[in-house]
Amino acid sequence: MGNVNIPKKVIVVGAGIAGASVAYALAQRQIPVTVIESKQIASGGSGNPVAVIRPEPGGAHNPITTLTTLGMQWLVQWLSHHGQAVPHELCGAIRMTRDALRHQKLAQHAAQYSADWISEVTQEQASELSANQVADRGFHLPVAGWIEPIPFIQSLLNHSSIQVQIGLHVSRIEFDEKQKPRITLSDGSEQQADCVVLASAFGGSLFSSSLAIDSARGQLTMLPEIAGRHLYKIICRDGYITPAIRGIHTIGATIQKDDVYVDARSTDDEENFQRLQRLLPEFCLDKNDCQSGRVAFRAVTQDRLPAVGQLAPNLYASLAHGSRGMTCAPWCGEWLVSMMMGEATPQLEQWREVLNPLRLALQ
Ligand SMILES: Cc1cc2nc3c(=O)[nH]c(=O)nc-3n(C[C@H](O)[C@H](O)[C@H](O)COP(=O)(O)OP(=O)(O)OC[C@H]3O[C@@H](n4cnc5c(N)ncnc54)[C@H](O)[C@@H]3O)c2cc1C
Repeated sequence: MGNVNIPKKVIVVGAGIAGASVAYALAQRQIPVTVIESKQIASGGSGNPVAVIRPEPGGAHNPITTLTTLGMQWLVQWLSHHGQAVPHELCGAIRMTRDALRHQKLAQHAAQYSADWISEVTQEQASELSANQVADRGFHLPVAGWIEPIPFIQSLLNHSSIQVQIGLHVSRIEFDEKQKPRITLSDGSEQQADCVVLASAFGGSLFSSSLAIDSARGQLTMLPEIAGRHLYKIICRDGYITPAIRGIHTIGATIQKDDVYVDARSTDDEENFQRLQRLLPEFCLDKNDCQSGRVAFRAVTQDRLPAVGQLAPNLYASLAHGSRGMTCAPWCGEWLVSMMMGEATPQLEQWREVLNPLRLALQ
């Protein structure tokens, strides 16, 4: 990659999982970082009470499969060293498929891996593993699990090289004649750095051309634990239910494009209840047992891949993490910082084009 000037100070815009991951990767290299957050830590999509972390099985050339695999490998490693402060459990998941054709394809994929990563399971085996009658046959993903995002993000940001400034909105980024960025904040103050990384989910108007990143609203539904009924695995297909965590199962999640309604709706809980019936038909028969959960907005792209890489000299992005940010954004943060530092890593070139944020530029 040639000579790279190691930055002496970096500003990261946004304190969700994407921003915290970039800040963490910079801090690991002793580079001072200021994270600027307009609301509070994890106030966007990253503030859900629980997130499922899991690989997405698919063919050998499916970039989402590879990205989620890299994401899980990063998480498993990190949690094994630092996980004491972060409530989580790698309890495993049962992944069902939409139809027989898809099941067949995944079965071919699964046959190439060892059972400690993925294995095909009959309906009976899946029911036994989860201790509940599941709706269909599927695949067991033993390394999948759940994590509480807020303590995770706080742990990543808890580093002497990271300073977090809360309640400041970045309203403008300009560049001086040496291409050094200067940002303007909502209180009128300005800050300079050698590099800026946008980790504000959507990017907004902070970059000169707009990026094709859409919004997809999501609502969670909570189900209090039913006495004597344990669920040992995450059960998922086009949604999921988690084991009870602090006495509550999380059912997720609705997906509504361009829907800006911020409050929870009972129709969405009904939709999630129907989702649960398609996963575990005997688990809960009364939708009145369900309670509304959190509403948040995913930043999504057409190819369902995030936008991670360089936007302009000294301006980088880790945006559009869609439905898998808790699984993939930490690895993406490490990858982005390797790229910024000009480090030679095996995955560097392979991912540069796939994740290139400029593939989404609208002009
Ligand atoms: C209902 C739902 C369920 C989900 N479930 C899962 C799951 O089970 N597993 C999984 O892996 N993923 C899941 N996701 C996806 C995951 O939550 C997101 O991909 C992830 O949180 C995105 O993180 P982020 O840091 O990119 O964005 P955000 O968490 O939205 O953070 C962006 C931050 O930037 C700040 N910001 C924005 N603009 C500015 C500005 N100009 N100046 C300063 N600050 C700014 C915002 O306030 C915000 O805090 C789910 C998402 C939803 C909505």
